[in-house]
Amino acid sequence: MFKKILIANRGEIALRIQRACREMGIKAVMVYSEADRDAMYVKMADEAICIGPAPSAQSYLNMTAIIAAAEVTDAEAIHPGYGFLSENADFSERVEQSGFVFIGPTAESIRLMGDKVSAKAAMIKAGVPCVPGSDGELPNDPAAIRAIAKRIGYPVIIKAAGGGGGRGMRVVHTEAALINAVAMTKAEAGTAFGNPAVYMEKFLENPRHIEIQVLADTHRNAVFLGERDCSMQRRHQKIIEEAPAPGLLRRAVERIGERCAQACRKIGYRGAGTFEFLYENGEFYFIEMNTRLQVEHPVTEMVTGIDLVRAQIEVAAGQKLPFTQRQIQMKGHAIECRINAEDPYKFYPSPGRITHWHPAGGPGVRVDSHVYTNYFVPPTYDSMIGKLIVHGDTREQALARMHNALNETVVEGINTNIPLHRELVVDAKFCEGGTNIHYLEEWLHQRGR
Ligand code: ADP
Repeated sequence: MFKKILIANRGEIALRIQRACREMGIKAVMVYSEADRDAMYVKMADEAICIGPAPSAQSYLNMTAIIAAAEVTDAEAIHPGYGFLSENADFSERVEQSGFVFIGPTAESIRLMGDKVSAKAAMIKAGVPCVPGSDGELPNDPAAIRAIAKRIGYPVIIKAAGGGGGRGMRVVHTEAALINAVAMTKAEAGTAFGNPAVYMEKFLENPRHIEIQVLADTHRNAVFLGERDCSMQRRHQKIIEEAPAPGLLRRAVERIGERCAQACRKIGYRGAGTFEFLYENGEFYFIEMNTRLQVEHPVTEMVTGIDLVRAQIEVAAGQKLPFTQRQIQMKGHAIECRINAEDPYKFYPSPGRITHWHPAGGPGVRVDSHVYTNYFVPPTYDSMIGKLIVHGDTREQALARMHNALNETVVEGINTNIPLHRELVVDAKFCEGGTNIHYLEEWLHQRGR
């Protein structure tokens, strides 16, 4: 096992990984930008190194500075967390070429999954069901493009092979709008992602977002750890996640989960990963794979009792997965609310000093957050200041616990989206379970604030 790991991230996930290291008797090196100098997890770290000024491009995305920090501290491995460099194949490659272990998949796997056209091709080959669409990249011939759309059936969606973060997509309802939409998406993709390749998919009208968590070691063992429902989204950003997904047949989840584990074995995947699906009329359609730990990983930890960060570290150190598929059991129900520093109705960011912080507690309540009273939320980064996660024997109990926990939580000095969460966890439709990916936007629109 490693003696020392460098954590190349910030905020709640940096603290989450630091906690796993502590538990495992591993020293954690924190890197931080000038904006995060006073963060508690930086002060409490075994070692901490400033890697640059506040802007991410000069600090948390600065590969040279991060690798240099690992060199001077004699860290053996680097955990990238999520966001920042976590899905950057060049970073993974440079880390390994510099003699460190990258706690994540190989550069080859990241590259394969980072290009959505190659990812989809690999999934089709591995027997994972995908959204019906073009065979790879769209050709340049307008007549051929029209023929593909006709075969798929309108509405269709044009998507950039290199897209991410909900950008580089365009829905097309009629043939008249098709060629222009393809040209515009291509132009945007070229500028935004440096890759003008686009592909076409059937546009699913009312899907849910269901994802499968996987874990694989370097000995060709791969397992799935159930599913998460992340359909509550605003502008393609998840805000509430839960496990298991309400109303899904266990048999259907097991069938798709086994396909995902099989795909991992086929492509020689290692580490934690997530297969994202759209789910409509009882069918799963693969859209993309995330080759890293996800923000919402705690709901899976709460229902399986498995520490995903520990498992990531163990497999990165070359150990075999400590459990088999049959030993993984989902128990009860878990829900996560992302707490963002933003106006709960207009969604303007609300950085600044937290004058009072009182986190919730009690049975089945978990708070993953790096903030505290007098913490300054910098305006430079993502607005998420923490995650409130609850577990209950049933979904009803989890919802009731979440409601209590949201009411107990006190954050003063800045605005947060807690008032929005309080309304959502008692919303009749959400409580019923099974809302689709448009539900939250429609709900916000109807509320009209
Ligand atoms: P990104 O990497 O940008 O997040 P995804 O491929 O995961 O891109 O898609 C993001 C979101 O776009 C999905 O969660 C879904 O809301 C919507 N979307 C993508 N493909 C389709 C599709 N074929 N039909 C309907 N909605 C889609």
